[in-house]
Amino acid sequence: MTLTPPPLRNDCFSLPAGVDWTPVDEALTLLRDRVRRVVPSESLPLTEVQGRVLAADVIAKRANPALANTAVDGYGFAGAVAEGAHVLPLLPGRAAAGLAYEGAVPAGQAIRILTGAALPAGVETVILEEDVTLGTGEIAFRGPLKQGANTRRAGEDFSQGDVILTAGRVVTPADLALTAAAGVSEVEVYKPLRVGVLSTGDELCEVGEAAAPGQIYDANRPMLLALLRQMGFEPVDLGRVADDRAALRARLDRAAAKVDVILTSGGASAGDEDHVSALLRESGALHEWRIALKPGRPLALAVWNGVPVFGLPGNPVAALVCALVFARPAMGQMAGANWNTPQGFDLPAGFAKRKKPGRREYLRARLRAGQVEVFKSEGSGRISGLSWAEGLVELPDGAVDILPGDPVRYIPYSAFYL
Ligand code: AMP
Ligand code: MG
Repeated sequence: MTLTPPPLRNDCFSLPAGVDWTPVDEALTLLRDRVRRVVPSESLPLTEVQGRVLAADVIAKRANPALANTAVDGYGFAGAVAEGAHVLPLLPGRAAAGLAYEGAVPAGQAIRILTGAALPAGVETVILEEDVTLGTGEIAFRGPLKQGANTRRAGEDFSQGDVILTAGRVVTPADLALTAAAGVSEVEVYKPLRVGVLSTGDELCEVGEAAAPGQIYDANRPMLLALLRQMGFEPVDLGRVADDRAALRARLDRAAAKVDVILTSGGASAGDEDHVSALLRESGALHEWRIALKPGRPLALAVWNGVPVFGLPGNPVAALVCALVFARPAMGQMAGANWNTPQGFDLPAGFAKRKKPGRREYLRARLRAGQVEVFKSEGSGRISGLSWAEGLVELPDGAVDILPGDPVRYIPYSAFYL
């Protein structure tokens, strides 16, 4: 097991003086340069590593295929076959997957062979059974057939000693097939990043409780906790805290002792009631990143007792966008994963939209019949639009005038998971 790396430096989120609005790509580059892995690694059996980040390259212990074998059911023999009709005597017995044919096949004779069977000594080529007439003790078929037809070479997929997966990759179900085929039963992975989620605001109450007039249900916490789980992190519920600096300070102190990262929502702007940013500022920990992004307020970044804090906006739409666009790749890197840029698709717009220059913009969107639809309202209070959507449209920082049919960049929500 590797040691737990030291916490992030307190100044890791500081911005150069004089920076006003930071473009999204620049903010992402800054984050990428500043955050590092904070979790240790452990060795685990294959059955337990799906969704984990590889801490070391995976090296094949065995080639695939380990032995040359047949890709089809048919008959095997030596060499190539010339054009025209051929009859070959058929040896008794057969070669099947897992059941080797022990004898050698003399040149000019054939053996029955089934998919996956190792090629018996003397067999180089296989003819499909559908192309063969079976007689008594012999087979007839037509050429031509190249030497090696319908067979798989030993090691044609990968060789023993090959790097089949590289460190920093998130393990997928298909990776487990690859790893198992390579004879590797245990791999080195990072422990999951523990991410605390804290909601702030006097107006919040817990869903299931009676809401007084003027109160709203805490919608961000269930969303963020579920999102983190889907991203492969270990979510930790830090509850809700009122707009009270002492209570917030105590909660952050306790949280910092048990998680690797903290996501707060609400109170992150510069207003009187923005107690998250006020407390972080008062403690000298705040770095306000004014990112040229819509929807999104200034992103409050801080290191609290060595633990990075992402102060997300309170508005659920802005909270989700900031969590996906900024917190996710940074958390991925803290979890030991490679920096991950979500893969978008350029697809025809099913809408018209004109946008001024200055801010990158994300719209709630989904794909229907090959076209990108956007939610009927851009109002950032419309939580129904978050749920209606299946992804985001990313509009560039500059001005655009989009007409129906023009290509727009669509990023499915799933592209943001690890
Ligand atoms: P704030 O960032 O604290 O100014 O909040 C912006 C808006 O988001 C306000 O309308 C808040 O009531 C709302 N809000 C803050 N936190 C949450 C939350 N956890 N769930 C739902 N709405 C929230
Ligand atoms: Mg608030």
